[in-house]
Amino acid sequence: MLGQNYIAGEWTNGTSEIENRNPSDLTDLVGMFAQASADQLEATLDQARVAQVEWEAYGMERKQAVLMSIGNELMARAEELGTLLSREEGKPIAEGKGEVYRAGQFFTYYAAECLRQLGENADSVRPGVEVDVRREAVGVVAIISPWNFPTATASWKIAPALCYGNAVLWKPANVTPASAVALTEIISRQDIPKGLFSLVMGSGRDVGQRIVESPKVNAISFTGSVPVGKGIASAAIQNLTKVQMEMGSKNALAVMDDADLELAVTVALGGAFGSTGQKCTASSRLVVHASIHDAFVEKLVAGAKAMKVGHAQEAGIQMGPVVSAQQLSENLRYVDLGKSEGAELACGGVRLEMPHDGFYMSPGVFLNSNNGMRINREEMFAPLTSVIKVDSYDEALSVVNDTNFGLTSGIVTQSLARATHFRRNARTGVVTVNLPTAGTDYHVPFGGRGDSSYGPREQGKAAAEFYTTVKTAYISAGTPL
Ligand code: NDP
Repeated sequence: MLGQNYIAGEWTNGTSEIENRNPSDLTDLVGMFAQASADQLEATLDQARVAQVEWEAYGMERKQAVLMSIGNELMARAEELGTLLSREEGKPIAEGKGEVYRAGQFFTYYAAECLRQLGENADSVRPGVEVDVRREAVGVVAIISPWNFPTATASWKIAPALCYGNAVLWKPANVTPASAVALTEIISRQDIPKGLFSLVMGSGRDVGQRIVESPKVNAISFTGSVPVGKGIASAAIQNLTKVQMEMGSKNALAVMDDADLELAVTVALGGAFGSTGQKCTASSRLVVHASIHDAFVEKLVAGAKAMKVGHAQEAGIQMGPVVSAQQLSENLRYVDLGKSEGAELACGGVRLEMPHDGFYMSPGVFLNSNNGMRINREEMFAPLTSVIKVDSYDEALSVVNDTNFGLTSGIVTQSLARATHFRRNARTGVVTVNLPTAGTDYHVPFGGRGDSSYGPREQGKAAAEFYTTVKTAYISAGTPL
């Protein structure tokens, strides 16, 4: 496969190419992918500005039909595109398929939102004058997305951006270009103005940096790491470009003494090791009440050891490889760090040899850790989780909240009083009760606090805040007052 960029409405070669290999089997070449040049970036930004004006003027039913068509095709092709995603990212096919299907739902949800264009109307304080408040498109939106949910994260940004009348320039992570080309191919066949949507592949440091520094970009939606997010914010402020950023986290799951033990273990395993732990919502801190600690830990470690790790495109696999050599070596560095900090590695955390050469690692559980350790303060993005023992609910809540991040948190308890107190006092953007810290819906807001997020929330109706700008119009009948 040769993946080209989609520049100003044309599939275009780049100035160079990168190769993309399957992390489950490094002999499997997924394809070669074009890297965009600075000139191509300028050309596509100029065309996007023209196309955006035309698109915003489309009737709402015409826009709705475009988004519905993209969503329906993604859902219909979830198996095929989910397998491609699994091949380049390393999550099991079932997770890849689920991700592509969910991406389709983002588009069908925002297809419906195209028709729900309500504003506000008011009387002015001046008699005879009316006030009309409506939302209009921001203009050209740059979307910079990560590799861990290559189709879903991009879709939850692209769908509202188009719904609210914007042009989109998409720079996906260079680690997962095949899914980006596949989604772009679907969008390119729609009834949209030439250049409304572009795919600009290239490295973050080069193409990404040029995008965020461009005065031709009106808004930037980014998901990725905190250091890159801070750099983007600094660059964007020079042009007063609007930004929305979802970054890392260090999500905690509190397991209380009254928890259903089986449920707590299932929730913890799913939250910690789903998608090989490479989720911004992963349960990387397990804050466990002392009176249930030993029983919980025994089952947790047994569950982690029993997880079937292997080639992500083979049936029955629960956890695929990590995404890249770089991520694997970072993960192993954190394992060494945890041990040197005094945490006990109860299982896993080692590179696995498999029949296929890939980036395999066993799910690891640290015990006897405390919240001051770096493994409990820094995002690892790995199939690693740490148990922190506490003596009370109050101590659990205080540990959960003792972090620079604040994306998600969860509690497993059968007490309505504790669940209610936790829901109100956990300082995160998302709180779960008797559910994993990962797993969110598309029709409600998503985002966090602290270092986890910056700018308006994503998804649901909340997305309108970022992808639109408000206009207040004063209207007089034109006769003397
Ligand atoms: P990055 O933050 O480096 O990358 C995210 C996106 O930003 C990619 O598309 C990347 O491009 C791009 N990018 C990188 N540098 C710049 C720049 N200077 N200007 C504009 N865009 C840029 O995350 P990684 O994918 O490298 O992952 C590193 C760590 O980030 C992970 O280990 C994890 O801790 C965290 N992460 C968090 C995510 C979350 O959802 N919270 C998602 C992914 C990562 P390219 O990849 O092509 O360089």
